[in-house]
Amino acid sequence: MRALTVVEPGNVQLQERNQPEAHQGDVVIRPVVVGVCGTDLDIIDGTIDPDFVNYPIVIGHEWAGEITHGNDLLPHGSRVVVEGVVACGTCAECSRGATNRCAVYDEYGFTRDGAAMESVGAHPELVHLIGDKVTWESAALTEPSAVVLRALQRIAPEQGEQVLIVGDGTIALIAALLVRQWNPTSVTMLGARDEQRDLAARAGVDLFTTNPDDTAAGYSLIIDAAGAIVATTTALSRASRGGRIVLLGYPGQGKAAPLPVDDVINGDLLILGSFSYTRSAWADVVSLLNSGTFDPGFLVTHRFSLDEYESAIAALRKPVGARGKVLLEVGR
Ligand SMILES: [Zn+2]
Ligand SMILES: [Zn+2]
Repeated sequence: MRALTVVEPGNVQLQERNQPEAHQGDVVIRPVVVGVCGTDLDIIDGTIDPDFVNYPIVIGHEWAGEITHGNDLLPHGSRVVVEGVVACGTCAECSRGATNRCAVYDEYGFTRDGAAMESVGAHPELVHLIGDKVTWESAALTEPSAVVLRALQRIAPEQGEQVLIVGDGTIALIAALLVRQWNPTSVTMLGARDEQRDLAARAGVDLFTTNPDDTAAGYSLIIDAAGAIVATTTALSRASRGGRIVLLGYPGQGKAAPLPVDDVINGDLLILGSFSYTRSAWADVVSLLNSGTFDPGFLVTHRFSLDEYESAIAALRKPVGARGKVLLEVGR
């Protein structure tokens, strides 16, 4: 089978390899759609924190597929999504539900081969059924949605928040969709590219702007999903007193934003980082998808076959026009 492999930083190849050996009790899944994101670029470029990746690695941590070798609960042909973080379930962090901080970091597409290939084995506990009405596009967005939902659940939005989202990529757009669950008064998005305006409107953004001057301090909840130092600096400066700032965008390993300490103290601000997702956040996203209350599939704007992986990477690297999620159609 074919597998999109980052052999080492700067060296991506579509390799031929044998089907992976399924461990006892595992189910086998044929990936259908695999999203790629900025983190995949970081893996490809070697700009990711080296503690979080093992080369060579098959990328693909945002995906959905069909069971080809299942069990009674997950029969052949079932449409599924698979949790990427493989938590041990027994360490102190797992015991308190913080499976994203499991003592043994192990994740598909980072430390073990991901889904940009034609067959993947997984422990049944990680595998979730998705309903017939959930599109492949929406299912492929389970992972980034779980990242956002976990961050929101941790910051616990209140009703009536004035929300500012900094960034206009997929994570930012998903944040606009999901924060609606808490009935904010307004959602403003400070983006980088005007081409994202229509996607932002569909995601429920009330005001989209690319001009930082259109946003003044006064937001009670700020979500930084941009992945740039300048964005984080802006995010920190726009909070109302008592405001909270959630950091979700990675500017790059080793980069640092200046922290206006006096303002943070005088503003009574809370700055929160949120890493990955917990098992419960993942299950919550699957429930939202299956109930039809959350349907982010319209955020997929680009589709490529596995053979066209170079075009997919190029579309990620340099956005042209409206760009939401970039999908690899592995087995469609
Ligand atoms: Zn991702
Ligand atoms: Zn653990």
